[in-house]
This record gives sequence, C-alpha cells and structure tokens, in this order.
Amino acid sequence: MFHSIRWRLAAAFIALIIVCIGGLSAYLVHFVRTNYLSNLETQLISQAKLIGDVSETSFAGEGETMQALARQVGEQIDARVTIIGKDGTVLADSEKDPAEMENHGDRPEVIEAISSNAGTSIRHSTTLGCDMLYVAVPITVNEEIAGVARVALPLTEIDKSLEHVSRTVVGGAAIAAVIAILLAIYLARTTTEPVKQLTLISRRMAEGKLDQRIRVASRDEIGELAGVFNQMAAKLEEMVNLLTTERDRMVAILSNVADGILVVDGESGVIMVNRAAEKMFHFSQNEILGHTFIEVLRDHEIDEILQKCLRTGEQQTGFVKIEPGKQFLGVIATPLSGQSGSVVLLQDLTELQRLERIRRDFVANISHELRTPIASLKLLVETLQDGATDDAVVTRDFLGKMSVEVDKLTQMTGELSELSRIESGKTSLKMEPVSIREVVLQVIKRMHVQTERGKLSLKADISPVLPQAMASKEGIEQVLVNLLHNAVKFTPPGGRIDLRAVAEGDTIRISVADTGIGIPTIDLPRVFERFYKADKARVGNGTGLGLAIAKHIVEAHNGRIWVESIEGKGSTFIFILPVASNP
Ligand code: ATP
Ligand code: MG
Repeated sequence: MFHSIRWRLAAAFIALIIVCIGGLSAYLVHFVRTNYLSNLETQLISQAKLIGDVSETSFAGEGETMQALARQVGEQIDARVTIIGKDGTVLADSEKDPAEMENHGDRPEVIEAISSNAGTSIRHSTTLGCDMLYVAVPITVNEEIAGVARVALPLTEIDKSLEHVSRTVVGGAAIAAVIAILLAIYLARTTTEPVKQLTLISRRMAEGKLDQRIRVASRDEIGELAGVFNQMAAKLEEMVNLLTTERDRMVAILSNVADGILVVDGESGVIMVNRAAEKMFHFSQNEILGHTFIEVLRDHEIDEILQKCLRTGEQQTGFVKIEPGKQFLGVIATPLSGQSGSVVLLQDLTELQRLERIRRDFVANISHELRTPIASLKLLVETLQDGATDDAVVTRDFLGKMSVEVDKLTQMTGELSELSRIESGKTSLKMEPVSIREVVLQVIKRMHVQTERGKLSLKADISPVLPQAMASKEGIEQVLVNLLHNAVKFTPPGGRIDLRAVAEGDTIRISVADTGIGIPTIDLPRVFERFYKADKARVGNGTGLGLAIAKHIVEAHNGRIWVESIEGKGSTFIFILPVASNP
C-alpha cells in the first residue's frame, strides 16, 4: 500500500498535519495555562492584598476577629485564606483551627512575600492533603511588616478549568486535523488518479487492447502526459493494424499456395511451415516447434539440399522422391536475404511427372499403332510393284487387304480426332433427360451379333424404378458400346456379361461385369489412358482409345468411371451419372 505515490503523498501530508496541529495545540494549551495561572496569581495577589489591608486593624485587636475575618473572606472568594504572623505563627485560617497548625515561617511563599512584595508557590499542602497554588503578600502596620496574608486555591479546581480549555483546544485541533487529513487524502487521490488511470490503460494495451484511450480532463502536466499518451496509442494501434493486415495477407498467401514452404534459421531449426508442407509430410504445426529440419521432414536428400544452401549461401535445387506416397518433389532452397537461414520450397511434381510419362507413352504408342498398318501397306504396295499386278486375282486380293489397313488407319485417326475434340471440349454433348433402360436395350440389340459370335451370355438387370439420367443419349450409348466391346473382346467363349443399372442417391450407377481374363493390378490405374493396353503381348486388335473416350464422355457428364478387376476372374467397369431433376 505504501509503495504507491498516493499513499506516500497522503502519509506525508498527514504527518505534517499531525505535527503542525499537535504542536500548535500543545503550545496553545501551555499558553492558556500559563496565562490563566498568571491571571489567577494577579487576582489572588490583589485579594491577598485586600485581606492584608482589612486585617491591618485586627493585628492590634484579638485573634478571634482575625479568624472570623479569614473565614468570611474565604467563603466569599471561595478560596483558603490564611493570616500568618511575622514569626510564622498561623494567626487565622479559613479552613482549619490555627492552633492546630504548625509554624508556616518556612513556607516558600511566606519567605518570598516577606523578602519581596509577593510570593507564590505550587506545592502539596500537608494540612489539606492536595496540590495547592499559594499566593502571599506582606501585611504592613505602621510601615512595618506585621505578618503575611495568604490565599490558596486547590490545583484540582484550577486543573478543572484548565482541562475544559484544553479539551476545547484539543477537540478543535482534532476536528481540524480530521478535516485536513481527509482533504490530504482527497488531494492525494485526485493528483494520482490520472496516473492510476494511465497505468490501467497501459496495462490493457499491454494485453493487446489497443483501442484504449485516456479521458484528458485537466490542462496540467498530467493532462499533457495523457494527451501525448493517447497520440502514442493511436499511432501504435495504426501500426499494429497495418502489421496485422500485412501478416494476415502473408499467412493467407502462404497457407493457400499449393507448394510446401518451410523457413529455417541458420542452425536448421524450423521457424515456420505452411499447410501444404504439413500435408505433404503429415505433421502438425505444434510438432515442429523447437525441432530441426531433418527431425521434421526425416528426409536426408532434402536436408542435403538445405545444408548445401546454408553452407554456400546460394540457391540450391534438386528432385526427390519421398515415401510413403512416392511423391516426386522439386526442392528449391533459397538463402534468406539479410539474415542466416533459408526458405525451402517443395513443389509436388508427381502429377506433372505422370503427365510427362503419359505423353511419352502416347507418342511411342501412336507411332507403334501407325507403324503396323503402314508397314503392311508398304509391303503390299511393294509386292504389287514387283509385278503382282499381272495377276488380276492377286491384285484384287491385295487391294482388299490394303483397303482393310486404310480402314484401320481411318478408324484410328477418326477416334483420335474425336478424342481430341471431346478433350478440348469442342463437342458439346446435348444433355437431356434420358431413359437408361431404353439406351441399354438398344445397345444390347446392337451387340447381339458379337455376343453370339463370342458364345457369351449377355444379361441386363435394370432397376424398375430407375429415374431418368441427365445425359447425352449418343454419349451414353458410345460408353456402353465401348465397355461391352471390351467385355466381349476380353472374355473367352462360354463366359457371361452382366449389365446393371441402379439408382444411388441422386446418381445412377451403371456397371458392366464380365467373367473374362481380368486386368493385372499394376495396369488398373492406367487403362483409361490413351493407347494404353494392359498386356501388350496378348493384345488383339484395338487401338487402346476406347476407355479414354468413355472416360472423357462420363466426365463431361460430371460423372465418374472406374474399374474393379481380378486377373483371371473378370472385370467390372462402373460409372455414375447424375439423375435428371424432376421438372
Ligand atoms: P479400342 O477400344 O480402342 O479398340 P482397346 O480395347 O485395346 O482398343 P481400351 O478399350 O481403351 O482399348 O482398353 C484398354 C485396355 O484395357 C485393353 O487393351 C485391355 O488390356 C484392358 N481392358 C479393357 N477392358 C477390359 C476387360 N473387360 N477385360 C480385360 N481387360 C480389359
Ligand atoms: Mg476397347
């Protein structure tokens, strides 16, 4: 409590007030007492003189008269009156029998009265048994000292009067002190209140509440301080807001970029990571604090790139394959400008790498597919050139074979250009509510000859309450034909093909299952690629475009197509289409 300015100020004030008022009242009490006593003395002296004057005649007469005088005067002035002879014998006393009293010649006031004009003394009276104020004056008869007249008042009487005065003074002083103390406390409080407010506001600001301001009430130094403080607070708030916006923007950018970003200090300690990096390496923000780069990523190849960057202070790049997802990453470690540390950028190039492989395969496949019919054509042409034209039958046969090869090429280029048209989104499929049942029945009719030839049973199981699909009739027909074509092609005689269609939520699920040769697990993810054929060795005719076309058509319907297969047992191709919403 006494550490605060307010209480120190108040305590100083209070101490000062107590000393001043206390000292003043003590002095006042003392002054009043001395004054009162001296007044009393003067009064008693004049009374004693009066008694002396009155008793002058009695000195010549009898003691009886003197005693009566003492008693009478004593009663009148309400004090003890004593008349003492020159030798100290008590001649009369208002309170006691003088005969019983001892010689008073040794009393200091008596000695003083005889030697000078008046004597006073405060002492204990053995006769009355209490403290008394004695005043004595000489009695002169015919210019000669005949005795001493003494007037005495018990001090208890005096003290009673003085006590009243003192009580008044001390009471007044106490009231004044209380008022002064309250005033001091009030003053201390009003002086320190703004300081307290300043402290409170500063504390709130330290807690982050920067919109706090002090009400500037006074124009004094503290008011000025409060004004400056408010200015500072406004500036601070503005700056913090600016920084927060900047930081939020940075955080938003960092957390939304698809590339993983890690910032490390000079000792490889991870300072910051973004969400993409967390996802790539499956850790969370709280796990990285206080850990090193290698502890967080657990990949020595990436760490090597970082270490080289930290060592040389130059940008380093590299490509790394990480477990367990076998992601292919491009790593760029760039030194932080102006401080030790580095920013490591991790780009997921897996998809890019996959597309690159598909592109390479595509080129290889297309040249392979083109080469076969072209080689046959060339062979046939050369044979004809070598004289086979002489034989009309052979020529016709050769031309027939050439026509087949040309048809193959035509079909292939036709499919290719169709695929590229669908891929580029140039063919807009005409979407309308389509009855899947009708399409399926139509396709089964078209495939009849082929299933007969392949000695296969083809069964359709269409849910009786199937809603219409929002689809392109021609598109769905083509998808189904492609799937059934494959099923026929890859199922040995005696096998069966099941075509099913059921409603599933707001989609329709259509599946084509066969009991054919199946697809090796390793090829499963790739069969929808252009020109991809599962086992090149066993491939019959076909360009490998059928599924790619089917996939594009289904995706143009916002649908999805996939395959489930067990090698040697059979394959099931499934695709889903959206239901046409009821009008
Ligand atoms: P195209 O359809 O262009 O005439 P294709 O039938 O070989 O040629 P896709 O229909 O795209 O090409 O099929 C790609 C590959 O997927 C096939 O070569 C085959 O290896 C595999 N495949 C497709 N359907 C089946 C199936 N029902 N059973 C077994 N393998 C299949
Ligand atoms: Mg096919």
